Amino acid sequence: MSLPLESPAQQRLADDLLAWGEDRPVAAPGVAAELRGELQRGLAEQHDAVAAAASARRDGRVWLTRTTLERAVCDGWQLEPEPFEHTWENVRSHLVVAAIVEDWGRDRRVAIDAVVADVWRQEASRQPGDPGSRSAWLNACEDPQRLRAEVAELVATFREVWPRIPGEVLVSDLRRTHTLRLARGRVVLRGTTDVVLDSHRQDDRARALVVDLRTGLPRPGRDRRAARFSALLWTLHTGRLPFRWASFHVPEGRVEVEDLDVEVLRDVVASVVDAVIQLGRIADLRPGASDHELRLSGGTWCDHCRRRVACPEAPR
Ligand code: SF4
Repeated sequence: MSLPLESPAQQRLADDLLAWGEDRPVAAPGVAAELRGELQRGLAEQHDAVAAAASARRDGRVWLTRTTLERAVCDGWQLEPEPFEHTWENVRSHLVVAAIVEDWGRDRRVAIDAVVADVWRQEASRQPGDPGSRSAWLNACEDPQRLRAEVAELVATFREVWPRIPGEVLVSDLRRTHTLRLARGRVVLRGTTDVVLDSHRQDDRARALVVDLRTGLPRPGRDRRAARFSALLWTLHTGRLPFRWASFHVPEGRVEVEDLDVEVLRDVVASVVDAVIQLGRIADLRPGASDHELRLSGGTWCDHCRRRVACPEAPR
């Protein structure tokens, strides 16, 4: 089966991201199960940290997402992150991915403006009564026309660069949320894979591709960690290994790929266990612990931390 490639840009994507026509790597049997076993064992060995971290949460569960894993870099950020708020950038990002998914599902048969208008309607009517919701933000948006135009432009860029992927050629799985309960339900791993392309053929080779769609400014380290986390989630969920995971930057039509490397996935498992250890340690600190008792580490992330004004590490 061939892909319907309509431009040099689509040919480039087929080569650089999909590795179209290239042999897929052999996936040693049992590796995905081993990774799950390592994670379960690691959490079991950290029984006290799991218990402390879970008991500090209102629902008695430690939720681990890309965001909480990122915050593991600094105790202060874990303790006092800036609350999430909807902004032009993050709402646009959400709408772009939602519109790409909608457009994909309709096989590009509908004009982009109409797809964006439909997505806008769906999102704006989801929770209009909740003042903190994305719906409320959209309904109060001062320049909806400009926002819709920006979304449509990015969807058009995506169409230019990505070939259409017919269902008979590859299996597409879009915007799938994975929730994995571990340590008797006290640790929950959660995340969403934006695009997974899988082969119809199931054999001893790794044949799936896991792609994160990015619409904001590229942040290489963070984007790579996010893509790796998505790949691990997919692996644990399906019990199979992807041949590659990647970040696709929609505005630039650029990809960053990483080929299957089990050691990299092992490192992600270790970072999950490490995040639980840190959350357990933070939970054991007395309330109002001084900066000396915390492990502080400053960086670009300080912008998202409520302690940044008084923190001694932030200016560095
Ligand atoms: S300002 Fe930066 S270094 Fe200080 S607690 Fe927050 S994230 Fe950590």
